[in-house]
Amino acid sequence: MKHLIHLITAGLLIFCFAGRAAGQARPLAGNDVAQIYERLLKQIEQIPIYDNHSHATFPDDPDMDAMAAPPDESSVLRLRETNPEFVAAAKALFHYPYDDFQPAHAKWQIDKKKAAEQSGGTAYWDSILDKLNIETCLANRVALAPYLDPKRFHWVFFVDSFLFPFDNTGQAAKNPDMGVYIPLQEKMLQRYMKQEGAGALPRDLAGYESFVRQVLTDNQKKGAVAIKFEAAYFRSLYFTDPPRAQAQAIYAKYRSGGVPSEDEYRTFQDHIFRVLIDEAGKLHLPVHFHSAVGIGDYFSMRNGNPLNLENVLRDPRYKHVNFVLIHGGYPYTLDMIWLTAAKNVYTDSSLMGYYVYPSELKNILKQWISLFPERIMFGSDAFPFNDAVGAEETFWLATRSARTAVAAALAELVFEGAFDEPRAVELARMYLHDNAAKLYGDKK
Ligand SMILES: [Zn+2]
Repeated sequence: MKHLIHLITAGLLIFCFAGRAAGQARPLAGNDVAQIYERLLKQIEQIPIYDNHSHATFPDDPDMDAMAAPPDESSVLRLRETNPEFVAAAKALFHYPYDDFQPAHAKWQIDKKKAAEQSGGTAYWDSILDKLNIETCLANRVALAPYLDPKRFHWVFFVDSFLFPFDNTGQAAKNPDMGVYIPLQEKMLQRYMKQEGAGALPRDLAGYESFVRQVLTDNQKKGAVAIKFEAAYFRSLYFTDPPRAQAQAIYAKYRSGGVPSEDEYRTFQDHIFRVLIDEAGKLHLPVHFHSAVGIGDYFSMRNGNPLNLENVLRDPRYKHVNFVLIHGGYPYTLDMIWLTAAKNVYTDSSLMGYYVYPSELKNILKQWISLFPERIMFGSDAFPFNDAVGAEETFWLATRSARTAVAAALAELVFEGAFDEPRAVELARMYLHDNAAKLYGDKK
């Protein structure tokens, strides 16, 4: 009897141990990861992409952004003209016959794109999306372009200009980058005022607030699906919650002139920021934030850190507002992903997906997928770098990088025992398409 009990116990122990070993995650990758990767990549290539962030545009279109590149900025290695991947992109998309972008060669490419622009119509950009298996694409633009098919390209508009209604001499003087950015924000605000038929700033804060709310309502009617803050370029992403009376007094004081102090301007901005997210919530427009390191020599890493937004993202008053942290908070990607623990906070891999190479994007996506796979989206940040290397080539670079990186991340996780291959394909589909389609889908 005693023996039998021993035997049963030993049997149970062996059974438990074997069971645990099979289901236990493995920390080291083996040779078969490459095979899993190949199998997954084949299926991942077939997934139509929903691109959460792009600047689909011809390079000479002034409506491409409410910002401009600052003078003399330094570029990361992968985005320099010498990157052979851009040649690969041009060959894949246009059968580019050269192996570099020397001016005489680049002309071939520039002429082709100019001809597409002159031909008008939406077929050209639709064909770029088709070649890359991108189904839908958000386009961050000052206004939607006639050459972008509204069925494929959905408009995201900029709202930072509402933060700068006063004399901005002090703001523009902060550094040479701000000297470039601020006049463009003033121009944008003028454009919104013209759109709403306002010759001058409204008489009081209540008037200004309803002007701001009206622009959001009208732009949504024109087809906009989200609002975008590039605020990290101009100030800290930490927004206080000042009493409205303070903002009212500041508006009254500076509406017709005078340079506000740094504190006064920030207090006013913090109030208008809250009006904007309140209205976006009412209209069910997701709120996008530039949340990564930015271009220029004066971008403040500390001010742009997405953790600055924690008090807003975790505020129960904004539970119904959907927030999207564009560019994954790069390089604070691991801090950032914990902000998406809240069900109304999302992120995308735009920009960082072509700053780093796929081997590193794989590591970041692996962390994200392991934590909150329902909140992560693909974004290309397709943008024209110059007349030859345009949004077309950056669409290619970003989609190729993301498809291979997510396949590699998932292959490792499958090998490690996290889940099986069918689940891996499902997770890839959520990242590349479904999470975004769900977030914006209800408004189409
Ligand atoms: Zn962008």
